Amino acid sequence: MQRVYNFAAGPAALPLPVLEKVKEELLSYGQAGCSVMEMSHRSKSFQEIADRAETALRRLMGIGDDYAVLFLQGGASLQFSMLAMNLAARGDRADYALSGNFAEKAYEEGLRWCEANIAASTKEDSYKGVPELSAASLSEGSKYLHLTANNTIYGTMYPEIPKGLPAPLVCDMSSIILGREYDIKDFALIYAGAQKNLGPAGLTIVIIRRDMIRDDLEDSIPTMLRYRTFEKSGSMYNTPPCFSIYVAGLVFEWVESEGGVKEMERRNREKAALLYETIDASSLFAGTAASASRSIMNVCFTLPGEELTSEFLKFAGERGLCSIKGHRAVGGCRASIYNAMPLEGVKALADCMKEFETKKA
Ligand SMILES: *Cc1c(COP(=O)(O)O)cnc(C)c1O
Repeated sequence: MQRVYNFAAGPAALPLPVLEKVKEELLSYGQAGCSVMEMSHRSKSFQEIADRAETALRRLMGIGDDYAVLFLQGGASLQFSMLAMNLAARGDRADYALSGNFAEKAYEEGLRWCEANIAASTKEDSYKGVPELSAASLSEGSKYLHLTANNTIYGTMYPEIPKGLPAPLVCDMSSIILGREYDIKDFALIYAGAQKNLGPAGLTIVIIRRDMIRDDLEDSIPTMLRYRTFEKSGSMYNTPPCFSIYVAGLVFEWVESEGGVKEMERRNREKAALLYETIDASSLFAGTAASASRSIMNVCFTLPGEELTSEFLKFAGERGLCSIKGHRAVGGCRASIYNAMPLEGVKALADCMKEFETKKA
């Protein structure tokens, strides 16, 4: 069967050369005589896989030794709780910028643990844009400021990461990590579920500045919810998500071979611009994100009415353009154009939109 252009938001498309490599190595990884799924996480072969993945990610993102790279499980959603428990004590203040559904969830988990404060929000404006942040909006003695770099559901992103704020920045990069360049030094902690831009589901990446890893946590915090546990053990306190780490490592090497994050960003901007131009020139399709906050990873748009929307999704599906239905919370359409989506796929979608519009005129 022919492969489709998969615009799913996550789990999302993987680069074809990575899938081919996985296929080639599926029955026997190198000389191991078994697949990565079947080998001990304590084996030399697997240790090499994990080390290679970490080293490649460090090169790609320019991560220095002053940061730990952790391979965890539980998804980005577990980080909503884990980061609060590790960075703040009960009663401490922490700030949140509400820019969408996931940011809200992070805030709600923060509230369970500490004095979480909404420093800025665009909720009243249906999350059409990202909120402005200033030092004055942060609470006094704030342990961190939590941001969502790219809002997967609403199709918005911070055009620039706010700088010079008094609280350490904690950033959910689930849907934009390796999609554009960031300066690691701007952040105290970065986390991302792998299934959007890095690999299969099951792996969560945490990049944390070492001085943020605390040992004086409340005794009731479980071992598995402490960053130190994973930092000390090279993410091997218990069985890590071996296969997902292996595939993510292949994705990292693919990104490098294609020119690194800088080149990914160039391509993502080109792909996004093509779709936004199509939307802006159309009288049928309308973009939902404010122009200044448009995401280069998730392009959200609507058609007038549910009937036309379903008709368009069917029309696109027949052309091998799949999973463009918007998130259930907002409806409409969403094209997720992560690193693995080639320009050809985006061109095919833009052409399909124009063809549909002509047909409906
Ligand atoms: C998908 C997503 C999440 C949730 O990730 P899980 O790994 O499913 O927990 C959180 N934040 C953002 C920005 C996302 O895109």
